[in-house]
Amino acid sequence: MQYVFLSHDVDWRKQGPESEHIIERKERFDPQLFEKTPLDKMYYNFPEFIEIEEKFGTKSTFFFRTMYENGNVYDYEDEINLLNKKGWEIGLHLDPSSVNNLEEIRKEREILEDISNEKILGNRVHFLKTNDQLQSKLKELDFVYDSSIKKTKDHYKDDIGYFVKNEIIEFPITIMDAYLFTYMKIKEEKIISIVDDTLNYARKNNVKDNIISILWHDNVLKMKGGRAYPKILEFLSTQDDVEMCSGIELANKINKNNI
Ligand SMILES: [Zn+2]
Repeated sequence: MQYVFLSHDVDWRKQGPESEHIIERKERFDPQLFEKTPLDKMYYNFPEFIEIEEKFGTKSTFFFRTMYENGNVYDYEDEINLLNKKGWEIGLHLDPSSVNNLEEIRKEREILEDISNEKILGNRVHFLKTNDQLQSKLKELDFVYDSSIKKTKDHYKDDIGYFVKNEIIEFPITIMDAYLFTYMKIKEEKIISIVDDTLNYARKNNVKDNIISILWHDNVLKMKGGRAYPKILEFLSTQDDVEMCSGIELANKINKNNI
């Protein structure tokens, strides 16, 4: 089986960035969509993600920060509770300033646990600014998995599968939306063939089971390129040997020796 871990990093406050930030990036959006959408909703896509993933019978992981520039994670209380209630996983999108400090990691996690009333078991560091000591800290705090590593920015080959470090399962990021359009210079219409190539490479290298981790930021769904997300899920759903899942579902399978 080819397992595809789907995840979204919630990098921006609920109201989105300041208007100037969006206006400067106007050309990233379809002009019609830009005209009819309020600026503070251009980066807001939770209902759409829920609808898309429900349509394809999967539930992903949303990694939330606890510190937002000019914003507050408590503004996301309704979204976190809705996602949690419907069976999506809430993970911690740890601030880079907390990476070296066990107590800061604990504090950040407590904030999300307080909002969601659920144990937070998965982590990803914002900007992937992780280091070699993080897993042992995560282990001490009873996390189950992490997904903060991308070895190669312009390719998928080195970032397939998983490994275990300090008893923490690490899922390297195989495909990231932003890198596809920058380092890899992939055009929107080529995204599906990249996903197809990645799958074929994973199949070839591990016939029985393999893992592909996809990071699609929650704010890009209305953007050129980012709007291809439903097409990716549609494509994956046509593959008989593919199962899409959240990080914790996958980690649980690994821990039960089912992968
Ligand atoms: Zn981030």
